[in-house]
Amino acid sequence: MHYAQRIPVLMYHRVGEPDHAHDIYCIRPDRFAAQMRSLSKNGYSAVSIEDFDAWRHGTKSLPPGAFVLTFDDGFTGVRDYAAPILQKMGWPATVFLVTGKLGGDSNWQVTTDQPMRPHRLMDQAQLLELLEQGFSLHSHSVNHHDLTMLDEAELLKDLIESRENIAGLSGKPAAYLAYPYGRNDDRVRDLTKRAGYVAAFSVESGFNRPDGDDFRIRRLDVFGTDTPAMLLRKIRLGCNDGRLSSLVRYYARRLLKKS
Ligand SMILES: [Zn+2]
Repeated sequence: MHYAQRIPVLMYHRVGEPDHAHDIYCIRPDRFAAQMRSLSKNGYSAVSIEDFDAWRHGTKSLPPGAFVLTFDDGFTGVRDYAAPILQKMGWPATVFLVTGKLGGDSNWQVTTDQPMRPHRLMDQAQLLELLEQGFSLHSHSVNHHDLTMLDEAELLKDLIESRENIAGLSGKPAAYLAYPYGRNDDRVRDLTKRAGYVAAFSVESGFNRPDGDDFRIRRLDVFGTDTPAMLLRKIRLGCNDGRLSSLVRYYARRLLKKS
């Protein structure tokens, strides 16, 4: 029997209709479905964030092909489009929620080349449906501020409050945090630990291994423009570049190492 030695975590944001051609942080529902089918056909299967954590701490083994699905921000499209697809496959997923904005809009500052319009975020009733389906809900902070910019008191308040807000939904304080914009530093990581989180998710690409930093878990950014073939390359190589040239470079490097 073989076990997973390294596990990729996929990061999605919005599911629905992109605002414009460069809105890579939104994936159309049919493309999301095609990506999931292709992962399944190629031997991949999603595991819960809790099982992933147990694997990282050596208390659980997971099969090869195990990966984790995460959605940042909590957009309504996760429930409307992604959840029915995942339910059919029996795959769990995690949503990192901006707990001060449930049922509101994603009206925080976005830092991409082209502005993205605010979109509706899931409310409590919608989130309870997801919980019933087997989703895990964790924290993406209270207000989606860049945590490195907050002073110590503000930062601790935000981290503790968002954990407790999650407890108001799921009955348990959030164990995991996804840093807004992926922004973190020594101080943020230290206070995240002090606030009671078990682990935190970054936007640094790569695979996760059991001996990795609990507060810098790596994730692969999945774009709305990624075809199923591109996503397969990303998840095989552990990088955000799903183009064919990236695969060619990877094998060229391996050949060079062997010779
Ligand atoms: Zn976010």
